[in-house]
Amino acid sequence: MVGGAPPCAPPAACRLRASGYDRAVKTTAELREGFLSFFEERGHVRRPSGSVIPPADDPTTLFVVAGMQPMKRWFLGVEDPPAPRITTAQKVMRAGGKQNDLDDVGRTARHASFFEMLGNFSFGDYFKDGAIDLAWEFTTERLRFPPEQLWATVFAGDPELGLGEDEVAVNGWLRVGIPRERIVGLPRSENFWQAADTGPCGPCSELYLDRGVERGCDRPECAPGCDCDRFLEFWNLVFMEYDLAEDGTLTPLPRQNIDTGLGLERGAMLLQGVDSLFETDGYRLIMDWVARESGVGYGDSEQATKAHRVLADHGRAMTFLVADGIVPGNEGRAYVLRRVVRRAVQHGQRIGLESPFLGRLADVVVEQVREAYPEVEAARDTIHDVLGAEEERFARTLSRGMRLFEELAGGGNVSGEDAFRLHDTYGFPLELTVELAEERGLAVDVDGFRALMEEQRVRSRTAGPTEDLRAAEFARGASFRAEFVGFEKTDVRTQIGALEDRRDGTFLAKLRESPFYAAGGGQVSDQGWIETEDGTRAELRAAYRFGDDQALLFEGTGFAEGDRVRAVVPWRVRFPTMANHTATHLLHKALQEVLGDHVRQAGSAVRPDKLRFDFTHGHALSPEERERIEELVNERIFENLPVHAFETPIDEARRLGAMALFGEKYGEIVRVVEIGSGDEAYSRELCGGTHVRSTAEIGPFAILSEGSVGSGVRRIEAVTSGEAFALLRSRAHEADELRAALAQARKETKARPVTGPEVVEERRNRAGDVEVIVVEARGAGADDLLALSDRLMQAHAPAAVVLGAREDGRVHLVVNLDRSLTERGLDAVAVVREAASLVGGGGGGRPTMARAGGKDPEKLPEALAVAERALLDALG
Ligand code: ATP
Ligand code: MG
Repeated sequence: MVGGAPPCAPPAACRLRASGYDRAVKTTAELREGFLSFFEERGHVRRPSGSVIPPADDPTTLFVVAGMQPMKRWFLGVEDPPAPRITTAQKVMRAGGKQNDLDDVGRTARHASFFEMLGNFSFGDYFKDGAIDLAWEFTTERLRFPPEQLWATVFAGDPELGLGEDEVAVNGWLRVGIPRERIVGLPRSENFWQAADTGPCGPCSELYLDRGVERGCDRPECAPGCDCDRFLEFWNLVFMEYDLAEDGTLTPLPRQNIDTGLGLERGAMLLQGVDSLFETDGYRLIMDWVARESGVGYGDSEQATKAHRVLADHGRAMTFLVADGIVPGNEGRAYVLRRVVRRAVQHGQRIGLESPFLGRLADVVVEQVREAYPEVEAARDTIHDVLGAEEERFARTLSRGMRLFEELAGGGNVSGEDAFRLHDTYGFPLELTVELAEERGLAVDVDGFRALMEEQRVRSRTAGPTEDLRAAEFARGASFRAEFVGFEKTDVRTQIGALEDRRDGTFLAKLRESPFYAAGGGQVSDQGWIETEDGTRAELRAAYRFGDDQALLFEGTGFAEGDRVRAVVPWRVRFPTMANHTATHLLHKALQEVLGDHVRQAGSAVRPDKLRFDFTHGHALSPEERERIEELVNERIFENLPVHAFETPIDEARRLGAMALFGEKYGEIVRVVEIGSGDEAYSRELCGGTHVRSTAEIGPFAILSEGSVGSGVRRIEAVTSGEAFALLRSRAHEADELRAALAQARKETKARPVTGPEVVEERRNRAGDVEVIVVEARGAGADDLLALSDRLMQAHAPAAVVLGAREDGRVHLVVNLDRSLTERGLDAVAVVREAASLVGGGGGGRPTMARAGGKDPEKLPEALAVAERALLDALG
């Protein structure tokens, strides 16, 4: 087995050098491809990298932190894998969570926050011996690492687990030729893997390369596991062997699995004999750019080295994160991205880069990774927009904040108040202040900072609108909890348990049992009334939720504490609200199915008349995508799936794969809304809202509009049930009118008998207040289209109209824009030309009105879609 390595004696003199051996594999790209094809040749199925956002049913980490994570369902046995042997190169991000390497970036030579993990995986196929043989063969024969410089670590055993040293692993490494003295046992904390407190787990075994004493710390106990630069871990093999029960006992898994991870950048660093990840070819363009733009060389000073590394890593991280649909924000992944951006801008400014520079940095990153990750190049525009906006936001305050920091630092240690001011006024994350202070040998009063943050949190909670405040005080003042019974009932007989007359014709009340839903989880508050036996009535004006308690504001007089009342939510309001809420869950699922797993809910509003759903996605939906989504939702509706809700511990909900909102706080016991039943359930979401009992109750579902609400976030508005029917009927009417208008237009221009013009398709979108109308017609001439476009412009101002028609093997296109749009930089000529290029033609006109012809009627739908997309994108 051991072969291929060049003769090398004495071993101590044998070092890896960049110019050393004639290698089969050397560059980062060669390493990636070499790894995947090596394992492919050995029976593994190659699969593409999953998103850096974990699958919806895995809330254990913010980001994917290992190659196995997208395959967790197969490892946990929830689902069968597509093949028993798989190999991947997976994007991973270790930041913001237990696996957080963000602060190590720049400080060490071997940590990136974003990197690629190469892995080979076995599902009940080969186990320890097979994994060890494969790793050894690849390392010594493909990478040609000298065997005498290789060390292995194994699991040393643990009394609590009742396990001794992993003898099978020791014997495996002995067998391939590593002597016993280079096999090191490490404790549970280092070399035992488990995904959770219970479930599949097992020992790990790692491979290290000895890079020579001169890189070491010179301590006698220096060995693999030491934090110095001599022994570098590059590959971790996980042997999933046991099932860990709650009481701590281990039973062997019926099917044992292998999961391995070799860091691509680490591997490249070793292959190329360089001192850090950032000196490998995989970062070269980026590092060169940083040096060129800043005029400061890598290694010029400790600060410069750190800044170069941070920019190289964070530049890559932010580019990939945005490409996967993440936008900066204040919670969860969004907040990590914000931190990454801020840290990069801050380090950039310190070596003289002038903001804005992230757009250019991202361009270089795209250049560097485009071959391996074409999807990043495809998202270039979104990346520019998102990063540009975030940088602008931050850069403005940063330079002022830096000045303030320098002033404060001049006076010694940084107090809690100072750190808080930097945070509150200048957006300095605490970590940044700490980092800056540390570099100057100063301390920060972190506890003081935290106390002020807490104080502010309490302040902002009580400083809300006074209505809320009064209602909260009132709710607290009553000695009982108002029980919400609105899931089951919308018409109840109950008692006013507490009442406060506001002396302005309104009063606050708490009902013993309340059918009124108080706004939460995106669903708006119910409407309704209460009335007494003798018919005195008060209308509900507002419903306030306080944990599982509520207070209600009514308009009316003549009520008193202790009154028996009937409380009613009118069905005509509640029913469509429930239909819209259940439809929202179906829509969420359909978006993920059609657009991909990166789609995440970014907000929603469920009302009786319509629903709104915001989600992360980099660009406008194509007409086909939009149609497919609408269709999917309707299919699930017509299947009449049962809908039911149940309460369960949060861990169980996670195990069931229930979708949760990121950044949302959930209690120990959560409510899960399930559509479909049991193992076959179509959707599960943590949700406290009201829902129909089965999907057919939703009736038709129709998308009203799709548009952008800020970079990287899209919004869909849709209607269901009666509203959907009304919409579909009015669309049908409009189509009829259009057809008539077209025929009329034809008559006015010139009488041409034959079959008459016909509308093939019509689409409408709203972008802000502008209506974007796209019509495809058949058998209409250029003049017909002009006349029609005039009518549409008049009827729908302000509008942007794109018309296309095929006639006798020719194509006609017309683009007509409201004048206000040309002021916003839109140009009908540019749009019509872009579309015309697809149908093999050209055109011209004025900024408000342009026309074109072409000779490829087959391509007309595509040309219209291009024009539509161009307009929607331009209108934001
Ligand atoms: P370390 O102790 O160096 O942080 P780790 O124990 O966190 O490594 P694993 O979780 O076992 O590493 O990950 C498997 C492989 O991924 C490692 O052997 C290494 O090659 C690579 N790797 C881990 N963390 C990083 C990182 N921050 N940057 C680059 N590569 C990494
Ligand atoms: Mg680590």
